[in-house]
Amino acid sequence: MTNLQSILIDKISTKGPMPLSDYIHLCLFHPIYGYYVKGPVFGLDGDFTTAPEISQMFGELLAISILQAWIDQGSPSKIILAELGPGKGTMMADILRTLKIHPEFLKATEIHLIEASSNLRSVQEKTLSEFDISWHKEFPDFEEKHLFLIANEFFDALPVEQFLRKGNKFFKRTIQLLNDNLAYGLEKKPTINEILKNRLTDTSDGDIVELNTAAAQISKNIGDHISNFGGLAILIDYGDWRSLGDTLQAIKSHEYCDIFVAPGEVDITAHVDFEILASNSGCAFSKLTTQGVLLERLGITERAKNLAKNLSGKDLESHIAAHRRLTHPNEMGSLFKALSLFPKQAPCPPGFQK
Ligand code: SAH
Repeated sequence: MTNLQSILIDKISTKGPMPLSDYIHLCLFHPIYGYYVKGPVFGLDGDFTTAPEISQMFGELLAISILQAWIDQGSPSKIILAELGPGKGTMMADILRTLKIHPEFLKATEIHLIEASSNLRSVQEKTLSEFDISWHKEFPDFEEKHLFLIANEFFDALPVEQFLRKGNKFFKRTIQLLNDNLAYGLEKKPTINEILKNRLTDTSDGDIVELNTAAAQISKNIGDHISNFGGLAILIDYGDWRSLGDTLQAIKSHEYCDIFVAPGEVDITAHVDFEILASNSGCAFSKLTTQGVLLERLGITERAKNLAKNLSGKDLESHIAAHRRLTHPNEMGSLFKALSLFPKQAPCPPGFQK
């Protein structure tokens, strides 16, 4: 039994069942035993690998889209460049290196990173040591400047709630004890709200609906800022336009496992419901675009060919494999999607379509 498992069992046996979102939050961010609190968890030697860790091309191409959006919005002279959940800081490093091609942009830029884990913050401090950066534990009240924001695999780490449909009512799932083991339970009273009411049309008895209220709130904060002061958000994650069913998953050493098996030792995520992110933002949004198509539109093939010129042997092989992994429909190309948010009066950013 992990330390966190016994803490959770004690807590539930004294206080009763807890909401699923509290369970996920404690698994990821318990101050001592939380998964993200303990140490770097991703990369080839970690539990999962993210796109920026696969190839520098990922951040480089997003940098081009950001730069063009900045130019399209009149090259404002004071802007905020922000990232939600920067992990090891690799994507921001790739973006900033690329943007050195346009010093005017960098001169205008204040860099802000939103990171809940102190451990990861210190990794980011090392990766980005040459830059002046402000860190925040949660989405801050930014100054009244254009906001250019990116998030890769951030929203999938925010705790979801699940609701089970029984007849025409939805009941919130909880975490309870069954024979002294952690197990799913259900609240006795149904939950009634507008979003769930709307889901009566596309679900049936026995279906599960997931709601991520934390994600919806952050998207509203981003959208409000962009509507008022301009800018762009590029949100990339695995998921779809609307979530249907139980998508909660735990991963350890690149393998799926049960969410109850080793709390604090495994990553827990859920598919992102992009419809909620888009509709809650209140600003203009692009069509949901697959990662593969986005990177193709931004020129990954050209960039890959250029980088390949200086590579040979094993390095060339892994570069080709990385290109395929990011874009191919059987790898990350279709599962991962990208959404951009921008002001109603601004053009849709490169790589996306309205
Ligand atoms: N974007 C990175 C890391 C993805 S992992 C990459 O693509 O490699 C998720 C990241 O979000 C981690 O840095 C994690 O610590 C951070 N995170 C998760 N939940 C958070 C929250 N509620 N507030 C701030 N950061 C959070």
